[in-house]
Amino acid sequence: MSIDTTGFGLPKPSHAAGFVTLSAVEYKAMRLRVYREQGGHCAFCGRKIYRLSDGELHHIRKRKMGGGSRDDSRANLEMLCNSCHRREHNQ
Ligand SMILES: [Zn+2]
Repeated sequence: MSIDTTGFGLPKPSHAAGFVTLSAVEYKAMRLRVYREQGGHCAFCGRKIYRLSDGELHHIRKRKMGGGSRDDSRANLEMLCNSCHRREHNQ
């Protein structure tokens, strides 16, 4: 498998439903983008995330209504600090 770098960072729709699925490389780039756009702060508690490794990209809309795939579009992602992200998924 070769790595396609055309359109790097621009998620392309890969599902009829308009869902976007990013490759691992694209996902990393998206993580950095969301982190920067949020000014390095957690979207939930507002705490400063000092390193990217202290935060997690969170999918706002979960798979539902029979959707088989996660949606990696920018609108569906936010950066949370590790503790908020853990809390989100422990409910
Ligand atoms: Zn937080």
